[in-house]
Amino acid sequence: MEKIAVAGAGAMGGRIGTMIKQAGYDVTLIDYWDEHVAQIQQHGVEIQTEDDTYQLDIEAIHPHEIDTQYDLIIILTKAMQSVEMLQDLKRYDAIKPDTAVLTMMNGLGHHERFSQVIPMSQIFLAVTVWTAGLRGPGQLLLEGTGGIELQRADGEADPRTSTINDIFNNAGLNSTISEDVFQSVWSKATLNSVVNPLCTILNKRIGEFAEYEATRDMIKPIIKEIVAVAAARDVQLSEDALIDKIEATYPEETQGLHYPSMHQDLYSGRYTEVDYLNGQIAKYGDELGVETPNNKLLTHLVHQLELSHVDQD
Ligand code: NAD
Repeated sequence: MEKIAVAGAGAMGGRIGTMIKQAGYDVTLIDYWDEHVAQIQQHGVEIQTEDDTYQLDIEAIHPHEIDTQYDLIIILTKAMQSVEMLQDLKRYDAIKPDTAVLTMMNGLGHHERFSQVIPMSQIFLAVTVWTAGLRGPGQLLLEGTGGIELQRADGEADPRTSTINDIFNNAGLNSTISEDVFQSVWSKATLNSVVNPLCTILNKRIGEFAEYEATRDMIKPIIKEIVAVAAARDVQLSEDALIDKIEATYPEETQGLHYPSMHQDLYSGRYTEVDYLNGQIAKYGDELGVETPNNKLLTHLVHQLELSHVDQD
């Protein structure tokens, strides 16, 4: 795979794109944010790590400037922009019949939406525990370490899967090929569907949320609904393992001092990914006859907050 694009090159797209670029690959960042693209074109990306700050030259373009086709496209917009991005990539002829289109966005149902635009056989799903921050246009904050699990979305064997896995590993991204990526996608989506809306609605850091003695009573009904919906879609999740995973984020040394990304989005005046988390779980529940009143309520509460925090123009 010679030509690689990262479409949606904010915090996470910036991390993945610059790490692959630094491993010697031909990488282009594609983004809608004019100021960000202009900054990268003029000065490169400024990367701040735990022990260094440096500039990296990397190509950055707006989707309408696409003039080539890519072998691998990694989509890392926020979920609500991803289909528009995929449609633009198609409109500007960036996608060949054998282009692998991979996403590692948080949330559920991305492959189903993408398959309305390109064949399922071109779609790859990944889940990551890497994190990244954006300090401003063209400025990345890359701390900590992580890993990636990936698989073709329809579960079929495909030589491109190991090629992508090798690219990620050559870039130091600690990637593995999964036999069942949906298990990990749903498990991460459960964490995000519990901690993100609750801390956003309560306006609390994760550790502050955990100080309340009945936190487990609050999270269990939400998790039970997700486990039931996942089971109806043939994804087997363990309620106890999910509780452990969520409670592992509470201490200060893990994520206790942080606000989840949904909180950061809302209080920066941006729409959240709630429709791709609790909202998508509720939608699947309605389709499959599984009741999801807690996830529906959380979705409505976050939408209510969006009405008052996001500029509606
Ligand atoms: P992000 O907000 O940094 O970037 C997403 C898109 O928004 C990019 O196209 C970016 O250019 C644009 N954008 C960001 N700030 C902007 C501004 N001020 N004005 C205009 N456009 C702006 O989002 P992200 O954190 O990179 O998340 C991308 C996906 O990856 C999401 O699905 C997220 O849930 C997932 N994810 C993120 C992390 C993380 O640590 N950041 C970790 C795992 C998964």
